[in-house]
Amino acid sequence: MNPPHTLYVKQMQLGHMDNFVYLLGDTGGNGAVVVDPAWNVGEILNQLEFHNAALQAVWLTHGHYDHTDGVTELAQAAGVPVYLPRLTPAEWRRDEWRDADISLIEFDDGDELSVGALTFRVLATPGHSPDGSCFLHRNHLFTGDTLFIDGCGRCDLPTSDVEAMYHSLHDVIMPLPDNTLIYPGHDYGRLTVDTLGNQKRTNPFLNAESKKQFVQRRMG
Ligand SMILES: [Zn+2]
Repeated sequence: MNPPHTLYVKQMQLGHMDNFVYLLGDTGGNGAVVVDPAWNVGEILNQLEFHNAALQAVWLTHGHYDHTDGVTELAQAAGVPVYLPRLTPAEWRRDEWRDADISLIEFDDGDELSVGALTFRVLATPGHSPDGSCFLHRNHLFTGDTLFIDGCGRCDLPTSDVEAMYHSLHDVIMPLPDNTLIYPGHDYGRLTVDTLGNQKRTNPFLNAESKKQFVQRRMG
């Protein structure tokens, strides 16, 4: 029997860039959050209604537009705050958020965020972007554009840092237990979710032998 408060996850693949938007809820109540709302807010609202979920907040893994272009509409419709990394650059914070008077709450590495009675921990994972963040609850890890199934985020963008990405993957994510479920920010793999243990075997960016080899693989 499940404990009274258990995480449920609705994964939505939305838009032309294969983004994954997540509805996370607590089975013990109707509290829920949406991670990286973008592309089709109508569908996100439909899913909230279908799950009888009361949206508490929006969380952002990082500030790239393909993960944030539904923030204004969703946060306004639900009247909820937006939690985002303190390190999200000012130029990625949309003017419309200020114009719409959306409440922005910044988080840092190690902070705790809640969904109903469930607690998530923020793991700072810079590399693809300076503000890259993952959200961890028990063995559920939402990885944004840090880790994909059999891939990882691009590191050739102006604000990317490939050495930081190596450390985020190898020193922050890889030490987690092998049964950790990876929920990526894009549908780029054979699977839509996988365990970290499997990814250690099949993901070329998790089995690079050295930082040098990783950098060559990612940037080559
Ligand atoms: Zn990104």
